[in-house]
Amino acid sequence: MEAFYTIQGEGRFTGYPAYFIRLGGCDVGCVWCDVKESWEAEKWPVLAIEQIVEDALAHPGRLAVITGGEPLMYDLGPLTKLLKEKGFTTNIETSGAHPLSGDFDWVCFSPKKFKKPHPSIYKHADELKAVVFNKSDFAFAEEHAAKVSPLCELRLQPEWSKATLFIPEIVEYVKNHPNWKISLQTHKFMDIP
Ligand code: SF4
Repeated sequence: MEAFYTIQGEGRFTGYPAYFIRLGGCDVGCVWCDVKESWEAEKWPVLAIEQIVEDALAHPGRLAVITGGEPLMYDLGPLTKLLKEKGFTTNIETSGAHPLSGDFDWVCFSPKKFKKPHPSIYKHADELKAVVFNKSDFAFAEEHAAKVSPLCELRLQPEWSKATLFIPEIVEYVKNHPNWKISLQTHKFMDIP
């Protein structure tokens, strides 16, 4: 759908320069999705993997973040193989709605209520990023935290339009549940993509 060099705004790699590769197509359907234009894969051009990686190499950073849409609708093996051959660290941001494919250094798993994660995704998650859009999302976050590995980092992130409403509640929650950390969409504060 698009690719751009920017600063990773959220999660474990917040503040790192990163090349984002956003794949078109999503079958999850979150009501609060901020990239609804990504949902229909057919709207976007098909690019050769070599072209995608060549475009990434035009920038000095060597962190590639594959996102969507829901990127695991595709076999990411060939793309991540070439990215790694060219020296990139590979991250993925996924709802986990499909089994993991590809070779990733960091798997950011962000489960959504709108389509259940595939059971096989939990063991691969390096980071669980639970978006808080309403009060019941704390329980939803804990439900998934119980299934990931003990080494998986746990983060609560307010959905952007509800940030003002939920930040105080998330702050109190994390103070009382120190296995969680807070993730904010700092790129939105910086007004960058
Ligand atoms: Fe949007 Fe991501 Fe949800 Fe798909 S999984 S609807 S791209 S927020």
